[in-house]
Amino acid sequence: MEKVVSLCKRRGFIFQGSEIYGGYAGFWDYGPLGVELKNNIKKQWWKDMVYKRDDIVGLDAAIIMNPKVWEASGHLKAFTDPLVECKICHKRFKAEDEEVLKAHGSEHDGKIAWTETKTFNLMTEVMLGVVEPKEKAYLRGEITQGVFVNFRNVVDSTRVKIPFGIAQIGKAFRNEITPGNFTFRSREFEQMELEYFVEPDEAGSKKTFDFWKEERMKWYVSLGINKEKLRFREHEPEKRAHYARLAEDIEYNAPFGWSEFEGIHHRGDYDLGKHKLTYKEEGGKEYTPWVIETSGGVDRATLFFLLDAYHEDEKRVVLKLSPKIAPFKVAVFPLLSNKDELVKKAKDIYKHLRDEVEIVAAWDDRGNIGKRYFAQDEIGTPWCVTVDFQTLEDDTVTIRDRDTAKQERIKVDKLDEYLQNRLR
Ligand SMILES: [Zn+2]
Repeated sequence: MEKVVSLCKRRGFIFQGSEIYGGYAGFWDYGPLGVELKNNIKKQWWKDMVYKRDDIVGLDAAIIMNPKVWEASGHLKAFTDPLVECKICHKRFKAEDEEVLKAHGSEHDGKIAWTETKTFNLMTEVMLGVVEPKEKAYLRGEITQGVFVNFRNVVDSTRVKIPFGIAQIGKAFRNEITPGNFTFRSREFEQMELEYFVEPDEAGSKKTFDFWKEERMKWYVSLGINKEKLRFREHEPEKRAHYARLAEDIEYNAPFGWSEFEGIHHRGDYDLGKHKLTYKEEGGKEYTPWVIETSGGVDRATLFFLLDAYHEDEKRVVLKLSPKIAPFKVAVFPLLSNKDELVKKAKDIYKHLRDEVEIVAAWDDRGNIGKRYFAQDEIGTPWCVTVDFQTLEDDTVTIRDRDTAKQERIKVDKLDEYLQNRLR
């Protein structure tokens, strides 16, 4: 874990938020490579969930909504964590974090006293307006409600018919008491969610639930996460969120233990019912649809992709990221930076890949070739193309594979095809 955290800072994936002012607990900034990785994950999700399906459309709702939404959805009442306070130093902790409580006890030489457990609302309040008293509103605690309140708008403005889904990616905020484990639990985070609407039917909705459960697991495996490190975990009825009829998490075996990063929820008619929204079939049948939700954390997925991709041996550190999500797809080098004809040829190839083939490419002409390979391995660039003296004679380049470190020579005019085939 420490190695990945330090790589993230050193190579510009993830920085502590407001770092020059000592940071700010629970907030993180994505650097030049982190923003690429995170965007690639989101783009791939959108492509697979929206573009490749005829029954799902997208949406981007506002972060701040009429507070009545949160009242109706039950979040103002039920979106809470049980909390205890240390009577000695007044620090607050989640009542269920037994390990953390024990550790805190030892900070006071075992002489610890806790307050009664109180519920603590996780919604982040904001004050709006120019006249006093200002109006209290909330930063959304989940992006989901934006989909539900637009249910009718989407049905009326598109040709969707039940069963159909609405996909959304966006930021959400939780006033977490104990943010921690790097970006795993933070106060500002991004979600990628599908709300899939079905007829109210026990057997049918269970089938849809199982379908999406498997689909979402397959998606992470298809992007290279080690199957052995993933599992489903079913929520016991008493631990389910206030809206869920069924809930299963996809968990990753992180250095800090099995941890949830996507939830599949059967929300029944809870939400549309609370917002008093119904669906009318063409024949006139009217009902409150049920909802199957897949709710993934973008930051958590990004962290787990990084942790899973990290490999180290005596010789090198390699991020074995799937080419689909790697920040750079290819790096192009001239063998020597002081030979103009090599530099020119390499620049031509680099610009061609970048501007005409539209593959995100890196350029490097510093240091020796071994160092450049090492630097690209560490940020997960799947292929490195080197222009050498032989290139000037027969128009071939070497292409080096990140994972095997093996090189082959290919014709320059076969390069586009080589890369495109592997990026598909
Ligand atoms: Zn204390």
